[in-house]
Amino acid sequence: MKGAAGSAGAGRPLCREPWQHYYILRRGILPCCHGYAPIAPMSEWATAWNGPALREIRWYLAASRLSPYCLASDNCPIVQRYHEERRRRRSPLLCAVNRLFGGLPARAYRLLKAGFHPL
Ligand code: SF4
Repeated sequence: MKGAAGSAGAGRPLCREPWQHYYILRRGILPCCHGYAPIAPMSEWATAWNGPALREIRWYLAASRLSPYCLASDNCPIVQRYHEERRRRRSPLLCAVNRLFGGLPARAYRLLKAGFHPL
């Protein structure tokens, strides 16, 4: 995997689940068995297949990337592999500096990346 949101390379989708089936449950529709939250209520089963949520997930996967929805699905083995690979690629020096300051640099980085502006 590469890039900010993971990549399988070779132009293949990282995962084909959202093109093959989806899950219609009482609590809502899931794009796959690892989805963390419903993308639509159960009553929208007929339109959810081509709805914006599933189209966005497919768009990312077709570009060999993980969508924000997928990245939030912690139980997905593909997402777990992506996070594991990112952890392995981290610079040992940055990890040492982060540990030295009790994880504060990493937390500050995540806040800034998420759009937190203290001023
Ligand atoms: S969460 Fe995982 S299994 Fe589900 S669509 Fe995304 S990559 Fe595929």
